[in-house]
Amino acid sequence: MIDYSDFDFATLAIRAGWWNADPATGAVSPPISQTSTYALKKVEDVTEILTSGNFSRFIYTRGSHPNEIVLEERMAALEGGERALAFATGVAAITGLITFLVKSGDHIVTGKSLYAATQFFFRNILAKFGVTTTFVDATDMKAVAAAITPATRIIYVETPANPTMSIVDLKALGALAGGRNITTIVDSTFASPYLLRPLEFEGIDVVLHSATKYIGGHTDALGGIIVGKKDLIDQVRMYSLVNLGGIIDPFAAWLLLRGLKTIHVRLDRHCQNAMEVARFLEAHPKVGRVFYPGLPSHPQHALAKSQMKGFGGMLAFELKGGLEAGRTLLNNLHLIRLAASLGDVDTLIEHPASMTHNDMFVTREERLFQGITDGLVRLSVGLEGVKDIIADLEQGLKLV
Ligand code: PLP
Repeated sequence: MIDYSDFDFATLAIRAGWWNADPATGAVSPPISQTSTYALKKVEDVTEILTSGNFSRFIYTRGSHPNEIVLEERMAALEGGERALAFATGVAAITGLITFLVKSGDHIVTGKSLYAATQFFFRNILAKFGVTTTFVDATDMKAVAAAITPATRIIYVETPANPTMSIVDLKALGALAGGRNITTIVDSTFASPYLLRPLEFEGIDVVLHSATKYIGGHTDALGGIIVGKKDLIDQVRMYSLVNLGGIIDPFAAWLLLRGLKTIHVRLDRHCQNAMEVARFLEAHPKVGRVFYPGLPSHPQHALAKSQMKGFGGMLAFELKGGLEAGRTLLNNLHLIRLAASLGDVDTLIEHPASMTHNDMFVTREERLFQGITDGLVRLSVGLEGVKDIIADLEQGLKLV
C-alpha cells in the first residue's frame, strides 16, 4: 500500500490510484472497462463482496467498476480524504449524498449563494419529502449559527460560490459544526482540489465536486465526486450507487482521470489569466463591480488568500449598462464562447439570470436574494492567450 502523504500533489495527480502499470498488460493508461457485468467464481461471491465493502472486486457496473475505483483513489489522495465516490454528474453526487443523510423532519442550513439546481433540489424536491432548508448568508458565521435548530443535520456551502464568488470561512464553519450531529458539506467545484482542500479544516466532513468542471477540464465528460471518511462514503455507495443508480460510466471516469493528470498545470494558468482579466475589467469604464477573490476589492480577499492556494479561473462582473449592456457584450464575442459550463480550457461566458440561474430553477426574488443582479455576467477564464481573451472583451465592450 502506498503512503500518498509522502508525495507532491503533482505526482498524485498523475499516479495515485494507478501507481503501477496494468499487471496484466503493462498498460500505462488504465484500460477502459467497457462491460456492464462481471463473471463470478461462485454464488457466495456477491454476499462476500457486499459485506466486505471491498468494491475493487466487481459484480455489476452500477455498484463499482475499475475506472471508477482508480478515479476515486486519485481524488481521495488529492483531497487528503479517506475515500471518494464518483457519480454520473455533480447533481447526482449532491442528491445521492444528501438523500442518504436526511429523513423527513430534518433540517438543512445552506449558503444562499449556490448553483441553481442545488437550490431547486433543496427548495422543491427535498421539501416534498418533509426536509426543510434555511438559506443564509454563509459569509456571516453568526447567521449560519442562528439558523441551526435541533433538527439540523447538514450545513451545505459553496466556496467560491456560483456565481457570486463569495467565500466561506471553512475554519469557522468547521468549528461551529464540530461536536454536533451535523454533516458539513463543501461544494468546492470552483476551487478544485489544487486550490482548496476543505477536509484539512477540522469539522468539515465531505468535499464535493462537479467533476465536469476543473477535474475533467476539457468539456468532454460529466461527473461528480464526494470525498470524506471511509465509513460514510461506503454507506453512500450502497445507498446511492447500488440502490439509487447514480454511478459514473467507465469512459467518463477514464476521461476525468486523464483530465486530472494536468490539473495542477491548468489551474496555475487559469489563476494567472483570470487575475489579468479581472484587473482589465476592473479598470474598464463600462464595467461596474468585478467579483474575483484575487482582487483586493473583493470583500473576502484576505480570507481567500489565507485558505486557498490561488484564486481560481472564475469571476463575475456587472456592467454599468445593466442587462441590455450584458446582452450586447455576450452576443458580440468572437473568441469567448457563450456557454453554460465552466472550468474548461476554453474561455466560457454566461448570463446567470437567463441561463444557469434562470426562472426554471430560481425566481427573480431568490436570485436577487443571493446577489445575482439582472446584469451580472459570469466568466470562466480559460487557457487561451490572455491578450486574445482581453482583446475579445475589449472589442465587445466597445459595442456596449
Ligand atoms: N456544483 C456547482 C458549483 C456547479 O457549478 C455545478 C454545475 O454547474 C454543479 C454542482 C452540478 O454539476 P453537474 O453539472 O456536473 O451536474
